[in-house]
Amino acid sequence: MGRFDGRVAVVTGAARGIGFGTATRFAEEGASVAIIDLDESAAAEAAARLPLQGNAKAVGIGCDVSDAASSEAAVTRVVEELGGIHVLVNNAGVTRDNLLFKMTEDDWDLVMNVHLKGAFLMTRAAQKHFVEQKYGKILNLSSVSALGNRGQANYSAAKMGVQGFTRTLGIELGPFGINANAIAPGFIATEMTDATAARLKIDVEDFRKMNADANPVRRVGFPEDIAAAAAFLCSDEASYITGQTLYVDGGAKLG
Ligand code: NAP
Repeated sequence: MGRFDGRVAVVTGAARGIGFGTATRFAEEGASVAIIDLDESAAAEAAARLPLQGNAKAVGIGCDVSDAASSEAAVTRVVEELGGIHVLVNNAGVTRDNLLFKMTEDDWDLVMNVHLKGAFLMTRAAQKHFVEQKYGKILNLSSVSALGNRGQANYSAAKMGVQGFTRTLGIELGPFGINANAIAPGFIATEMTDATAARLKIDVEDFRKMNADANPVRRVGFPEDIAAAAAFLCSDEASYITGQTLYVDGGAKLG
């Protein structure tokens, strides 16, 4: 008996990285899973690799979460193809790092649109179903960078915005049987952090070691670390927790 038997979980930006790790965990625990990503073929390929249990199904859907029509259409397809929607993880993300004086308006807009507007649009599309059935779990991906990080004025603002958005969802949607929480990961080894290493012209392994050494638990995080916390927060065991941001960072933000 899995915690997500008979449930349908949607994870955005899940063709790889934290999203795929989280989608995998939901599948292992019995859910049918929709993998949403910009590129439909990458999403479908990832969906085909999920460890589905019993009669659970998976689908890969191409969608730009920063586009209202695309988000609405994706949620409609999930309901049609998987028979409902119970869990939404707003995970899709991009970085366009630069010091403020070099940051372009496009760098700012893209990051805001994917992280913040994307979470809003996907949540607005899903909540109709959640409210109707008086059940839903929303999980948003914030970041330790919400607390401020050199070169990430856009990303930091978006990720702190995600925390305010999550608290407000908790207030508005709680009466309808809907929980909304956020996870703020620290350094997680994915293509996103590998790209940061490349931008800083540091070898990927050296960059991971540097971050591990600076962390109280002396290691970097992996998608499985986020997936474990995500599964708990989206399960019925966490039904008295809402509006919260859980830092999953090996103690990085302790200072
Ligand atoms: P990742 O490996 O770069 O994966 C992000 C995924 O999101 C990619 O598949 C990407 O697709 C997709 N995506 C980008 N824009 C999209 C859009 N408009 N619509 C739909 N999908 C879109 O990133 P990750 O490291 O797994 O990060 C996942 C989430 O955790 C992000 O929100 C990130 O900000 C957050 N986070 C990560 C870390 C970390 O250390 N890795 C730390 C804190 C927070 P394409 O490949 O086609 O662009």
